[in-house]
Amino acid sequence: MQTVTILGATGSIGCNTLDVISRHPEQYRVFAITGNSQLDLLMEQALKCAPRYVVVADENQYDKACELAKQYRVDAEILCGAQALEDVSSAPEVDSVMAAIVGAAGLLPTLAAVKAGKRVMLANKEALVMSGALFIEAANQSGATILPIDSEHNAIFQCLPHDFQYGNFEASGIRKILLTGSGGPFRERALDTFSSISIDEASTHPNWSMGRKITIDSATMMNKGLEFIEACWLFGAGADDIDVVIHPQSIIHSMVQYIDGSVIAQMGNPDMRTPIAYGLAFPERIEAGVTPLDFADISNFSFQTPCFKRYPNLKLAIDACKEGQCATTRLNAANEVAVERFLLGQIQFCDIAKVNEATLESMPMVKVSSIQQILEQDVLARDKASDIIRGKFLC
Ligand code: NDP
Ligand code: MG
Repeated sequence: MQTVTILGATGSIGCNTLDVISRHPEQYRVFAITGNSQLDLLMEQALKCAPRYVVVADENQYDKACELAKQYRVDAEILCGAQALEDVSSAPEVDSVMAAIVGAAGLLPTLAAVKAGKRVMLANKEALVMSGALFIEAANQSGATILPIDSEHNAIFQCLPHDFQYGNFEASGIRKILLTGSGGPFRERALDTFSSISIDEASTHPNWSMGRKITIDSATMMNKGLEFIEACWLFGAGADDIDVVIHPQSIIHSMVQYIDGSVIAQMGNPDMRTPIAYGLAFPERIEAGVTPLDFADISNFSFQTPCFKRYPNLKLAIDACKEGQCATTRLNAANEVAVERFLLGQIQFCDIAKVNEATLESMPMVKVSSIQQILEQDVLARDKASDIIRGKFLC
């Protein structure tokens, strides 16, 4: 029996995790679930999975959460706030933590799980993008196992050789990691119409159903940029070890190309329950409720190289990856601000990349070597991005 904490249970990954767990009640026990704003959903989840703790991230919601827990007749103890998120991630009773809070808010609770040596199922890519070397060092020190849940990284993980040596591609016989992405909803849209992209258009992904922020990141391909950085840290890759390949059908979730000419790809229908089930059961496999891939149904497998004119955010992220930690932390922060403002209707779709670029250009790089410094850079970049939006881009 594995005891699991689900950070971000009310989100898209969180709901899918609870779905997979509910198929295997004899194998998994839920220790804690956490949410932020969707308190009714959180209580409904608590009724179904009977966790020991229900955590509400926002302290101001504590009274309301306790009231709702009574109404729903939820037995669990209600906790709130940042420390509670870290406590349920690092508690001795917990074996595994699903890190599925969106954005920088997930950094500290995810790190708490890593430092406590847990088996960490990492969906929250922003945490790794923000803290890279410190995150990996913490895992090495504590002995935590990091299992990638992002479908591409989960695919790469599945395609690597059994004796893969972190960072040593040559010794592992690897030529390249081929990181695939669908190209999002605007892969074929005329570039001169990008200024009229609406929130609804950007919020509709052709293949995947996901949370709001990652859906916009997929449309700008910032998501692939964050994944590029994520792959570098997860597998010890250099920027030259990774090629981004557009594969509009989202059937191949990524590939590893070997020096002997072989390419190993992981495939499946685009359903996050596959990588989630893989993370939960690793090294075994469990049923995930995913419709099996029917090759007779696939009429076309196509591939193309991404164009940076169409996806300037992808280039910004690859450049930031080469630049180093300060740049990736700031880019992530600026992007969170820009996406939020786009979703509020305050800036245009094309402004997201402009805000990100202007933020990076307007701040000289500094060395960051502690979590404290990373959090400081995160705040500074958010302030800078907000200033830039106020001065230049407000609709
Ligand atoms: P959602 O927006 O659907 O869910 C986000 C979760 O985080 C919710 O539970 C939300 O709570 C919680 N949350 C939001 N803000 C805070 C905060 N300030 N403090 C604590 N908790 C907070 O996101 P997704 O599930 O789509 O994505 C989660 C992570 O997984 C992201 O990092 C994303 O990049 C990554 N990922 C997602 C994939 C997907 O298919 N969805 C695929 C690959 C990676 P509430 O809803 O109650 O407000
Ligand atoms: Mg992904």
